[in-house]
Amino acid sequence: MFYKRKRMNRLAGTVSAGRERGRKQQMKILVINAGSSSLKYQLIDMRDESVIAKGVCERIGDGGKIKHKTADGREYVEEVDFPTHTEAFEKLVEVLSTGEYAVVQSMSEISAVGHRIVQGAEYFSESVLVTDEVLSTIENISDLAPLHNPAHVKAIRACQKVFGKEVPEVVVFDTAFHQTMPPRAYMFGLPYDYYEKYNVRKYGFHGTSHRFVSARLGELIGKNIKDLKIITCHLGNGSSICAVNGGQSVDTSMGFTPLDGLMMGTRSGSVDPSAVLYIMEKEGFTPKEMSDVLNKKSGNLGISRISSDDRDLRKAAAEGNPMASLAGEMFRYQIKRYIGAYAAAMGGLDALVFTGGIGENSYSLREAVCDHMEFLGIEFDKAKNEGVRGEELEISKLSSKVKVWIVPTNEELLIARDTLAIIKRIQ
Ligand code: ADP
Repeated sequence: MFYKRKRMNRLAGTVSAGRERGRKQQMKILVINAGSSSLKYQLIDMRDESVIAKGVCERIGDGGKIKHKTADGREYVEEVDFPTHTEAFEKLVEVLSTGEYAVVQSMSEISAVGHRIVQGAEYFSESVLVTDEVLSTIENISDLAPLHNPAHVKAIRACQKVFGKEVPEVVVFDTAFHQTMPPRAYMFGLPYDYYEKYNVRKYGFHGTSHRFVSARLGELIGKNIKDLKIITCHLGNGSSICAVNGGQSVDTSMGFTPLDGLMMGTRSGSVDPSAVLYIMEKEGFTPKEMSDVLNKKSGNLGISRISSDDRDLRKAAAEGNPMASLAGEMFRYQIKRYIGAYAAAMGGLDALVFTGGIGENSYSLREAVCDHMEFLGIEFDKAKNEGVRGEELEISKLSSKVKVWIVPTNEELLIARDTLAIIKRIQ
């Protein structure tokens, strides 16, 4: 069988009573992005989608520190011992609800918690309510994301322990948006056995961002996303490009892991697999050592030998560093290549979107990528683009057939929106 999706029942399980406690009116959603040693959070008021407070608990399991910031500008930093995620959540509850940095009178004002999950594989094509079954599925696919999924599960269990199981929790997957890719886009030309035995295929990542900015683009240009062919470029430390046809991801540049596709800050992007095997043989690297080279020592850092950060590279390039220039040229060229490929894959293009730290802020990159793209229907407006950082703006000429936009991404907000939509369905 080619198609072997094992989708979870969207609303599997039930959420027990308890949620009455005034949460319906409060509409505050806590968004959690947990890693193995950190826990980033945002508390969002869904009445106006504003951020009430945000911060991070760092160095979990190895000391501990909380950095907390409220919307009205109060900032709090403290070294605290976080042996596990549980202590980090306990501290978070304390900071959010008591003392001078509090933003809620009681934790019962928080209606639900939304968690970002890196890998949902073929099990999750949309966000779901957390149940025991959902948690064990996320755990069972840990092989596909060993650095992320086990940490997410630990964090969700700690959150349940501290908040109580009656507070609904929702999981939002980086991979879910890309589950609409057809097999011709997600299969690798490897023996089919490895797909069947080990689920080796393209999953794609940054799905929450590509979904957010493509939907927002539709709103901004006043068109139904179902009628649009869009290419979204999420360019940051990690970068990926997505072909969004009729609101659905039909192809994306990241693959089995977030290593594939574009060259990034420290990741290589696509490489001929034979080159990897050749280097392993020559250097006597183990798979783990080779993985470190590909994930941590390549990309901007590997080529320039000075930094992974796009800003440092542009500065060095301006000062005449040829390797920094080369890294920049490679990145821009690769983005162009994907745009051409995805326009061909979709049979046309209506809009191109730039997002992520580099996409939103680097106007020179946007200009270089859109240079000489008139053949595709892109008429770039250099004057409008010049100097623009981090704001929603159309940067193509009015006559341009393909609209080019900067759309700042907001993954946390989309996680909060999904969380709210799911808890409304179960209330
Ligand atoms: P992540 O993938 O970690 O979420 P970001 O989306 O925050 O990363 O992007 C980080 C990248 O964005 C860095 O390479 C940084 O140089 C770049 N960046 C951030 N701010 C600016 C800016 N003002 N101008 C140009 N590049 C920027």
